[in-house]
Amino acid sequence: MRVLLVEDDEMIGDSLAHALRSSGFSVDWVKEGLLAQSALDDGGYACVLLDLGLPKRDGTEVLRQARAKGDQTPVLVLTARDGLDDRITGLDIGADDYLVKPYEFRELLARMRAVIRRRDGAAHSLIGGADVQLDLTTREVLLQGERSQLSAREFALLHALLERPGAILSRDQLESRIYGWGEEVSSNAVDVLIHGMRRKLGADTIRNVRGLGWRISAASAAAPAAVAVAGSAG
Ligand code: CA
Repeated sequence: MRVLLVEDDEMIGDSLAHALRSSGFSVDWVKEGLLAQSALDDGGYACVLLDLGLPKRDGTEVLRQARAKGDQTPVLVLTARDGLDDRITGLDIGADDYLVKPYEFRELLARMRAVIRRRDGAAHSLIGGADVQLDLTTREVLLQGERSQLSAREFALLHALLERPGAILSRDQLESRIYGWGEEVSSNAVDVLIHGMRRKLGADTIRNVRGLGWRISAASAAAPAAVAVAGSAG
């Protein structure tokens, strides 16, 4: 899962980026507001961690503009400002949650999971169809109900595909969801990852659409009821 970290404090940003990467996230870290804005315009983030006091453009302004453009990426505001006014302003202009520094990293992770889940529109944490489901909390895949572990990249790949059932995602789109900036991505990295996922999930689960990209198969993505009516779709 790819997250955007917006933090101008070198020490805080550095330790947070490390901790997030150790927890399996791909992290893009920007240190001022204008860069944050262009990163958000590029899209593809599961969540944004946003400091408010930033050079060039204030965090509240970045958030206001993103929401004005209809960007619904979950935003968790991280700030030293503990004044009630700031907190209310942040929430009023569309922050999903608020964390005042200093905070515990475990609490940050829990709140990130909560805002991502909420934005995925699920009261529960499962997305997908009858055959293949993804548990956003435990980051496991469920194959006909059987749970197994996924690597961080496998999770990001499957999340991207299941989020938009039926849509064809290009190599660029998948790479932007799976890898962070500056990460060395070999030209066949996505193919290798998909090959491994097919072995895990079944050869037909992820379909290649020649020259365009990949999509999750209809049987894997369909709502459980639809699959039941159609019988075993293999
Ligand atoms: Ca700051």
